[in-house]
Amino acid sequence: MPPIPGSGLAKGLAVTLRTMTKKTVTAQYPDVQPELPPRSRGVIGLFEENCTVCMLCARECPDWCIYIDSHKETVPAAVPGGRERSRNVLDRFAIDFSLCMYCGICIEVCPFDALFWSPEFEYAETEIHELTHERDKLREWMWTVPEPPALDPGAEEPKELAAARKAAEKLAAAQEQAAQEQAAQEQAAQKPAAQEQAAQQEEEGPAE
Ligand code: SF4
Ligand code: SF4
Repeated sequence: MPPIPGSGLAKGLAVTLRTMTKKTVTAQYPDVQPELPPRSRGVIGLFEENCTVCMLCARECPDWCIYIDSHKETVPAAVPGGRERSRNVLDRFAIDFSLCMYCGICIEVCPFDALFWSPEFEYAETEIHELTHERDKLREWMWTVPEPPALDPGAEEPKELAAARKAAEKLAAAQEQAAQEQAAQEQAAQKPAAQEQAAQQEEEGPAE
């Protein structure tokens, strides 16, 4: 059936009318801060203590915008006769956010949980070179990273939590055992004294 002449115009006007009567959804940024989802990709934070300078993030970054410098240090043997070890020490960690395309690959591939998304996005600069954030700045972003969402009910306990819980349980059991042993020792020490006192009372005879 051919379309009725003017039906397209009527449809268009209907849409316009519907939209005109709807409540506005324009966010008046920067007067009003937007409500962003907690997992928004704003900026990347670095938790330096977890970084082992494995270079995986820099190698996998499709934009080559992660710059890492490091040097090796020799760590003395932990026990006499043991072997010395060498470890990487971080000298520089920087991300150039003028190149970054916010793909999140670096965060996904980091095997040591050293990189995190922060929803902060207000870091525009007038000089492009200032968009290269060095380790201190990346560390500051770390404190704006939101807490991870709660686990689903019935989800498996995270490995770190399970290990910490087991260690705490072990420590509590050891402390309880030590307390029991001490109580038993004190009881054993009191017994001969009580027996001696009873024997002494018997010798002295009943009190007048
Ligand atoms: S988010 Fe993607 S582009 Fe940006 S630094 Fe990480 S890997 Fe590179
Ligand atoms: S992948 Fe993680 S641990 Fe390895 S260098 Fe990058 S941030 Fe550091």
